[in-house]
Amino acid sequence: MSTPTNAERMEKIVSLCKRRGFIFQSSEIYGGLNGLWDYGPLGVEVKRNVKNYWWQVLVHERDDIVGMDGAILTHPGVLKASGHVEGFSDPMIDCRACKAHLRVDQLIEKQGVKQCPNCGGKDLTEARQFNLMFETHVGATSDESSIAYLRPETAQSIFVQFKNILEVSRKKLPFGIAQIGKAFRNEINPRNFTFRSREFEQMELEYFCRPDQGMELLEYWKEERLKFYENIGISRASLHVRNVPDEERAFYSKGTYDIEYDFPFGRQELEGVAYRTDYDLSQHQKASGKSLEYFDEETKEKFIPHVVEPSAGVDRTVLALICDTYGEDQAPNDKGEMEARTVLRFHPRIAPIKCAIFPLLKNKEQLVTKAKEIVGLLRPHMNVFYDESGAIGRRYRRQDEIGTPFGITVDFETLGEKDQTLRETVTLRDRDTMKQERVAIQDLPAILRDRIA
Ligand code: ATP
Repeated sequence: MSTPTNAERMEKIVSLCKRRGFIFQSSEIYGGLNGLWDYGPLGVEVKRNVKNYWWQVLVHERDDIVGMDGAILTHPGVLKASGHVEGFSDPMIDCRACKAHLRVDQLIEKQGVKQCPNCGGKDLTEARQFNLMFETHVGATSDESSIAYLRPETAQSIFVQFKNILEVSRKKLPFGIAQIGKAFRNEINPRNFTFRSREFEQMELEYFCRPDQGMELLEYWKEERLKFYENIGISRASLHVRNVPDEERAFYSKGTYDIEYDFPFGRQELEGVAYRTDYDLSQHQKASGKSLEYFDEETKEKFIPHVVEPSAGVDRTVLALICDTYGEDQAPNDKGEMEARTVLRFHPRIAPIKCAIFPLLKNKEQLVTKAKEIVGLLRPHMNVFYDESGAIGRRYRRQDEIGTPFGITVDFETLGEKDQTLRETVTLRDRDTMKQERVAIQDLPAILRDRIA
């Protein structure tokens, strides 16, 4: 079998996502809206598993971080102070030949001449700034005074609520505020499937600290975030840390790392970890006239805290997970002959369905009843799936393709028909090794919970 090229691999991934219900084009029956995606029954599970695990390790397992959930529609004052109204833009160029709108960094250059990447046209307009924020109006009037924005990042509501949260949580520095939610950017060229979308979700942490702790915490959070990606099953070899050079960093940032992943379409950013100094809180203090200072009871000092921000994209993480775990290999069919199989090797923690349960035959009532009993036994602990249709090998294959790590088959041994000692046992199949072991039904919840965690 020849190795598929990266473009072929990506095509197969996009097609699998649609065919099995991970990701669909948004408003598809109306021709679709560019840069917008809907997650199907399996995609939504992967997305939730990613977000829940992020929340678990950052908020629930730590004493120094609390959560919040801010509004999406944002007061223009917030985004003026943060610099987004003035400066959240990309330079845009139009190709006069094919009318494409292009980001300047997408132009190709041949023999020193800039060209349109779509048609090769050289007749390009001058670059102009294009603000990426979506503007809307709040209330019954539609004029300057009613403008609001769909937030382009979740971070700003954290800064704006900093004082309230500090007071109610009674945390001492260093401490963090975490948020997961939608963000919106009118990207000039949405592309590479969900990688660059116009509506996406972010998982952001603002970790506030004393000025002298900033650089050290930047290193700390970079390492913590790498661990996160490894713990959800992304291979370390495909993750890279880019130390963003001075000239590319925001002027207020003293250090930024991009955590990048080797997507089939190239090495691209998954997450930014930035030491943002006291820029955001200072800007909001200045613009709102409200104090956002922290009072240190020990030193009796008052100051604006500094902040380190790990900012990750949910959609990019889901896409990286699908790309990283997608594989094609060989597996035996019911006759023992080897056949091609497609498999998503999701970490059990991330897999949309943890375990599939099959009665060997669908027309044997006792097998079906027992299999449904096992569904009832496992359902309170995890997302399971019952399937009785088709040959058992085909059923395994369908689950392999969506990344279900475990498969349970109820057979005649389970009923004690061949050997009384095997009564109330089932086969437990592992997706990756394809090995089967015989385990007691009553042990299933503990065994599976252990392997998932
Ligand atoms: P890029 O350079 O790729 O546009 P960025 O540096 O502007 O990204 P940030 O503002 O640092 O991105 O946002 C933090 C994270 O939010 C990114 O690392 C990414 O995971 C996610 N993100 C940003 N823009 C998009 C988008 N258009 N679609 C999907 N995810 C996005």
